[in-house]
Amino acid sequence: MSPHPVRPLPSHVRVAVVGTGFSGLGTAIRLRRSGTSDFVVLERGDDVGGTWRDNSYPGCACDVPSHLYSFSFAPNTDWTRSFSGQPEIQAYIQRTARETGVLPHIHFGTELLEAAWNEQDRRWTVRTNRGEFTAEVLVIGAGPLSEPTLPDIPGIAEFAGTTFHSATWDHDHSLAGERVAVIGTGASSIQFVPHVQRRAAHLTVFQRTAPWVLPRRDRPIPAWERAVYRHVPGARRALRAGIYALRESWLVGFTMRPQIMELAEKQALGMLRRQVRDPELQAKLTPNFRLGCKRVLISNDYYPALAQSNVDVETDRIVEITPTGIVTAGADGDRTERPVDTIIFGTGFHVTDHPIAGRIRGRDGRTLAEHWGEIGMSALHGVTVSGFPNLFYLVGPNTGTGNTSIIYMAEAQVEYLMSALSTMDRRGLSVLDPRPEVQDAYNVRLQEQLETTVWNTGGCASWYLDDKGRNTTLWPTFTFRFRRELSAFDVAEYKTERRADVTVDA
Ligand code: NAP
Repeated sequence: MSPHPVRPLPSHVRVAVVGTGFSGLGTAIRLRRSGTSDFVVLERGDDVGGTWRDNSYPGCACDVPSHLYSFSFAPNTDWTRSFSGQPEIQAYIQRTARETGVLPHIHFGTELLEAAWNEQDRRWTVRTNRGEFTAEVLVIGAGPLSEPTLPDIPGIAEFAGTTFHSATWDHDHSLAGERVAVIGTGASSIQFVPHVQRRAAHLTVFQRTAPWVLPRRDRPIPAWERAVYRHVPGARRALRAGIYALRESWLVGFTMRPQIMELAEKQALGMLRRQVRDPELQAKLTPNFRLGCKRVLISNDYYPALAQSNVDVETDRIVEITPTGIVTAGADGDRTERPVDTIIFGTGFHVTDHPIAGRIRGRDGRTLAEHWGEIGMSALHGVTVSGFPNLFYLVGPNTGTGNTSIIYMAEAQVEYLMSALSTMDRRGLSVLDPRPEVQDAYNVRLQEQLETTVWNTGGCASWYLDDKGRNTTLWPTFTFRFRRELSAFDVAEYKTERRADVTVDA
């Protein structure tokens, strides 16, 4: 049962925000700090936290250091590790929501079913499982990691044992003594595989692509050091700035000189050879693309877990799931069935086809998903979309980063939203709709910049690219450029309409 009281929805608000992960919550906090109370936040779950609430699998942690992976305006001096685990991050999000006073604005157990732009009234009609209301401005903070993906493998529904996805971990299921299969070797999987290996009688890891894995430079932050951050704010700020600068420097390799990545590849291969002695397993685990092309993973215990005697790494293609096991086909076409009791899917999320886009209807009555289905995910500044007036889609197309904190990007977009809202107030505007030619030019520029990056040229198939091979997820250059670009709202980039009650020329 939700610990939060159920409140009636208002009939109209200035701003409706969807989601209480970092971006939705950050918006709520910023709105409240600006003195407005005319907003609601819809949350389908019964707690704040978004992906950090849902992903509670054993070993779940962030691979961006916590002193950077946190709100700039709500510093936490008490992080206990350099790379915090999910429980500590979730506790930080809950505490921040409580202390900033935004909880009364959040409607828990309230799911957005459809938001449709009403051309006549110039506002969004927002339909939820708990009723309907209207909003002048709609902010989507649903994030790209909210809808788990299951692979399209024949027979998957017929499996008679236990199955779950990393984002919906079944904590009541012990795995002890079982034959367990893990499908997928991404950022989530490599964190829970060591845990599964310790419990299961036998573990088979089904690997489609060998990822690059670098050492995880994690360390506990001792009490004395935390006391320094508490009493000397400058020390904490300097640490954050240092982490930011170091992470930003990786972009030289990612975006300008992918050859530099050879140095990191040497380091990764060195670790692989030290931790895995068996040459056959080493070969299976050696990536065949340039480091950085897919998200770089960090772990000290993944390879050692795979080297244990109760683990097999299966690289043959999965062709079928039967009621009792997983069938693979070798290069010669030979089928092998491996009987298993439990299958854990570490198969990721709908990153390039956000399901929530199917619930947002713009000016011409088409959904954002239909619109993006034709032209690919795209937006102006990764946040507003032509034909979808007064919509702010946070952490939208081409705002992802492979190297640094996504919260930094989300905060830049929230500031952009705030400056859009004050522009609307100042000029008496009721509608802001990006000019299509401005949005197109912005995206042409982005795609040109992405052409030479390691994400596009590194020789891998990744979810950074959509089904047409277009990189619709990542920001192509330094993140401070993104923040600078969004630091002022340029109303000339938008088609505007004035509120009917405004007569003076603003
Ligand atoms: P992911 O990176 O998308 O990895 C999915 C894995 O499933 C890949 O290894 C993929 O193989 C495999 N896969 C997908 N469909 C398959 C199929 N039909 N057959 C076999 N294998 C299949 O998902 P994730 O690990 O959940 O991570 C998603 C994102 O969440 C990360 O990139 C990151 O942004 C975030 N995350 C961050 C952290 C952190 O901060 N430490 C932790 C977890 C997640 P291919 O490689 O061949 O496609």
